Amino acid sequence: MFELVHPGWSKGLEGRTLESRPSLKDMSIDELRGFFISMGEEGYRAEQVMSWMYRHGVRSFSEMTNLSKSLRDRLAQKASLDDPQVLARRDSRDGYATKYLVGLRDGNAVETVVLRYSYGTSICISTQVGCRMACRFCASALGGFVRNLTAGEMMNQILVAQGGFGGEGDRITHIVLMGSGEPLDNYVETLKFIRLAHHPQGFGIGYRRITVSTCGLVPGIDRLAGEGIPVTLSVSLHAPDDGLRDRLVPVNRVYPLRELIPACARFVDRTGRRITFEYVLLAGINDAPRDARRLAARLEGLVAHVNLIPFNPVRGKANKRPSAEAVDVFRSVLEEEGVSCTVRRELGLDIDAACGQLRRRYGEDTQGFGE
Ligand code: SAH
Repeated sequence: MFELVHPGWSKGLEGRTLESRPSLKDMSIDELRGFFISMGEEGYRAEQVMSWMYRHGVRSFSEMTNLSKSLRDRLAQKASLDDPQVLARRDSRDGYATKYLVGLRDGNAVETVVLRYSYGTSICISTQVGCRMACRFCASALGGFVRNLTAGEMMNQILVAQGGFGGEGDRITHIVLMGSGEPLDNYVETLKFIRLAHHPQGFGIGYRRITVSTCGLVPGIDRLAGEGIPVTLSVSLHAPDDGLRDRLVPVNRVYPLRELIPACARFVDRTGRRITFEYVLLAGINDAPRDARRLAARLEGLVAHVNLIPFNPVRGKANKRPSAEAVDVFRSVLEEEGVSCTVRRELGLDIDAACGQLRRRYGEDTQGFGE
């Protein structure tokens, strides 16, 4: 089922040469302008080069034909385009989801998932290799935290999805920061990425079509509220009270619900945007009708929408997915209590679309990708 784009890599991820030249994709538009000015060039070169990198998806400086040959040569000496490697691609049988394993310049790898909906095509971006948050049911933190991704490495995930690197691509219309990692734990690069993805010479994606998902880092939520960009905030709640949330989402011990919920209210006040809460349904743990009633009580007064996600089984985690009936009862109790909610339509279950799973399988199976 895997399409191996670089068969030579199936023995492992090692062997990439370390790149010391800075990647132009890691630069904000202002940094890129500064870079050109420091080379004695005009600042507008920044827009030209961005357009080549993102709108045209070129993979080398030599393709940037409106730059002089000597400028292209100097760029190639001083900077890189951090060309990503597609290590693997899997397509779901129903055709609605595609998952890529993207190799990074230091030999690490992250996943990115494309989800095709009727309203557009969404990409689920990873923001870190591994994760520090250690949520009980999530695969992303199983191997611990490795490192933050740079803004360019996030931009590269979109380039891969748009098809510049082998295979057929998609035109991305929506971004969700719901891959591996905690975006607000990598704040600066994540914000740089959001602004680049929004830029007309980037991918031109409207802020409202970009969703930042967080397990609830309160200072990050407040900082994001003050950026003046109308992104959508999604908070992974998963429990109606601190006792249970402490166990499922350990960072709750640092930012408990009595601090998190008011931070969400401040975000709504300052941005005028509705908040989405994610609630993963774990059989016998947080899926009882009583939990739904207590959740509704917690959210009273907030302009919010709840996304219910039936647990996606993870190898190495004992949690179970609730029955369809239990999911339905939970949803109807929330609705009776006046909370707007939907059960997340799941695409790509057969390709392990839950966080961290493809990367883990790749790591476990050195023969490469067999099931
Ligand atoms: N760190 C961020 C974003 C990454 S996870 C966050 O916590 O929001 C994106 C969403 O998927 C989160 O709500 C997360 O709790 C959920 N998730 C993780 N593993 C899952 C699984 N196995 N099944 C269903 N949802 C899962």
